[in-house]
Amino acid sequence: MPGFELFDESEKQQVAEVMDKGFTFRYNFDGMRNDVWKARELEQMIQDTIKVKHAHLVSSGTAALTTALAAAGIGAGDEVIVPPFTFVASVEAIVLAGAIPVFAEIDETLCLSPEGIEAVITPRTRAVNFVHMCGSGGYMDKVKAVCDKHNIVLLEDACQATGATYQGQSLGTFGQVGTFSFDSVKTISCGEGGAVLTNDSKIYDYAHQYSDHGHDHIGSDRGAESHPIMGANYRISEMNAAVGVAQWKKLDRILDIQRRNKKSLKDALKQYSEISFRDLPDEAGDNAGFLSIMLPSETRAREVVAGLQAEGIPAVFYWYGNNWHYLKNWTHIQQMKGPAKLPIELIADRPDYSQVKTPKSDEIMSRTVSMLINLSWSDADIQKRIDAFANVFK
Ligand SMILES: *Cc1c(COP(=O)(O)O)cnc(C)c1O
Repeated sequence: MPGFELFDESEKQQVAEVMDKGFTFRYNFDGMRNDVWKARELEQMIQDTIKVKHAHLVSSGTAALTTALAAAGIGAGDEVIVPPFTFVASVEAIVLAGAIPVFAEIDETLCLSPEGIEAVITPRTRAVNFVHMCGSGGYMDKVKAVCDKHNIVLLEDACQATGATYQGQSLGTFGQVGTFSFDSVKTISCGEGGAVLTNDSKIYDYAHQYSDHGHDHIGSDRGAESHPIMGANYRISEMNAAVGVAQWKKLDRILDIQRRNKKSLKDALKQYSEISFRDLPDEAGDNAGFLSIMLPSETRAREVVAGLQAEGIPAVFYWYGNNWHYLKNWTHIQQMKGPAKLPIELIADRPDYSQVKTPKSDEIMSRTVSMLINLSWSDADIQKRIDAFANVFK
């Protein structure tokens, strides 16, 4: 998954152009910047590649989720459905919006299932934060149909799925609003960065305003702009956007390498009858940043993880036991513990997060093992992994 593996002179040149000719701030300063606009340039590239009307860059994927929720009108007291298997940011953004996270079940796509979503819808449900985990999504036509039927917003957390598609359409563009992350370990890296994606001009206007103190971004005099809404500062800097401009030009190359490396490893593992694979609703559209396998039981999964680690294989993820990607281990979220009183504490009938159970997801995640697919692998590196599996399964 990590685009940083392909950092070379091109990222340095892009950043140098900002330092030598341009300016660090993404807006205004027209007289100083010699027409260098890296954030705008990257936004245009994203829009052209994934075919979305608006891509708005922000400072992180978490900031993108926070901005997307606000811009889509999700706020205090609204219920937002979210999976128990995700990076914690998907939940944090909901809590920080003053909204109520509602956990629903995933299926073997490793994403929320349409039935799982439907089972937890209440009159207070306003949105689904649909997370495309590990480079691939769910059955988006069915997911979209459930959201439309119940008139709830589909927000896509595509932070791990840049470059992925479902039936030819980019993940992040199915719902009213989507998000990417460009942090240090994502498919495309800006160092830190993220993007809000939408075809809805009203959501876009709220997004760029909200992420920049409510500025309307009309005209070329920042001080003379008006402030239609309140906001905060989630702006990306021109240096970060510059890194992203160089990285985005490598997206096709990144996807080609990942898909080739993943196929070599996956094909070699098909001989083991104990292994089944994650359900990929559209395998051709998988961004191939991870290979996820399922074992017959939790015990067997733990044995295989230990075996691969003993063979010296790095980046083997057993999410079910991991601190940051599965609800079971998020004690801070189970206790809804912030540094100060949270908006959700004002809601008397909020869920008791220490009692939330997702047994179907537990059953799936307890058997699931993922491996990072690297860009820098040689044939020998791939063979080393294939040999390690042979040793573990002999
Ligand atoms: C990385 C990630 C985020 C947050 O992105 P940052 O840029 O690190 O803030 C959100 N959701 C998912 C699923 C992620 O993997």
